[in-house]
Amino acid sequence: METAPAAHQPHWDAALRAAGRRVTRQRLAVLGVLERTPHLEAEAVLREARHALPDLTLQSVYVILTDLTNSGLLRRIEPPHSPARYETRVGDNHHHAICTSCGRVEDVDCAVGHAPCLTPSWTPGSRPMTIHVAEVLYQGVCSDCLGLAEAAAPELSS
Ligand SMILES: [Zn+2]
Ligand SMILES: [Zn+2]
Repeated sequence: METAPAAHQPHWDAALRAAGRRVTRQRLAVLGVLERTPHLEAEAVLREARHALPDLTLQSVYVILTDLTNSGLLRRIEPPHSPARYETRVGDNHHHAICTSCGRVEDVDCAVGHAPCLTPSWTPGSRPMTIHVAEVLYQGVCSDCLGLAEAAAPELSS
């Protein structure tokens, strides 16, 4: 038991209590890691959190990630063909861009600033639903990967 956990953020205590969750070192570690480094997958969260909690297991991380997602403290992103990622930026319906080469994920704000995708125009014949979340995933190549590709094949375009 360390007496001074690294990067302890008091606001997470309040957020956990407001969500009806006990404040534990494990939950604080996971939240702290994702606040510092958003869009990590579970195994990367475990790697980072183990600096403060060497005994933490992947199973516990999965349980915590799922619980904190269900309680609204975390958001889960599920890119195609890639493990789920987690972040502490919740509630604003922002979008994501993923690099199809290295998997880097970046935040993208709503193009017109107010969740336009929450008001779908329904195709004739479809049965309208009450929409809770609209996820837009931009897929492309990050500048690092683009640089590598250009170095390998200078004539490559688009
Ligand atoms: Zn990339
Ligand atoms: Zn994000």
